[in-house]
Amino acid sequence: MTPASLDRLRNAIRDVPDFPQPGILFKDITPVLADAELIKLAIDGMAEAIGDQKVDKVVGIDARGFIFGALLAARLGTGFIPARKKGKLPWRTRGIDYALEYGTNSIEMHEDAIAPGERVVLADDLLATGGTAGAVLELMRQAQADIVGSVFFIELAFLGGREKLAGLGPIHSLLTY
Ligand code: AMP
Repeated sequence: MTPASLDRLRNAIRDVPDFPQPGILFKDITPVLADAELIKLAIDGMAEAIGDQKVDKVVGIDARGFIFGALLAARLGTGFIPARKKGKLPWRTRGIDYALEYGTNSIEMHEDAIAPGERVVLADDLLATGGTAGAVLELMRQAQADIVGSVFFIELAFLGGREKLAGLGPIHSLLTY
C-alpha cells in the first residue's frame, strides 16, 4: 500500500461530530465503500497486512465488520463468520459480556463456527477502546482458534485499544488517528 493510496483513503473518510452522541467524532466510512477504487484499495490493504499466512476463516464484527470481513474473506479465499449482537444468531451460540464506557454489551458467535485449531483472522472497520474486539478475540480463544491476528481499517490510537488486545495476536490497522 503506497502512501498516496493511504492518503486517498484517509481523505475519503468523513468526520461527523457528535454522532451518535455528543463528544464522539464519528468516522464515516460509507464514502470509501461507495467508491469502486477505494473499497478495493481498502480490502487490498487489509489483505496485505495478513500477507501469505495460512488463514481458514475471517470473523467480522456486527455490523460494519461484516462488510470489511466478508470482502476480506473473499479476497483471501477463506470462509466468513459473523460475530453478532446478542439474540441475532439463530443456532446455538457462545456469548460474552463486555464493558462499554457506560454499561455493558453482549456479543455472540455460533458455537460450531470455528473448529479447534482453525487459523482465524478478526476484521472490523474501526478499533476504538478495544472492548468489542477483545470480547470477540476471547470468544475465538474459547473456540480454540489459532488466532492469526486482527485487522482494522481504522485505529483510534489515542483510545489505547491496541494495549487492551495485548497477547491476543498481532494487531494491524491501515489508517491510524
Ligand atoms: P470499541 O469497542 O470501543 O473498540 O468500539 C469499536 C466499535 O465501535 C467499532 O466496531 C466501531 O464500529 C464503533 N466505533 C467506536 N468509535 C467510533 C468512531 N469514532 N467512529 C466510528 N465508529 C466507531
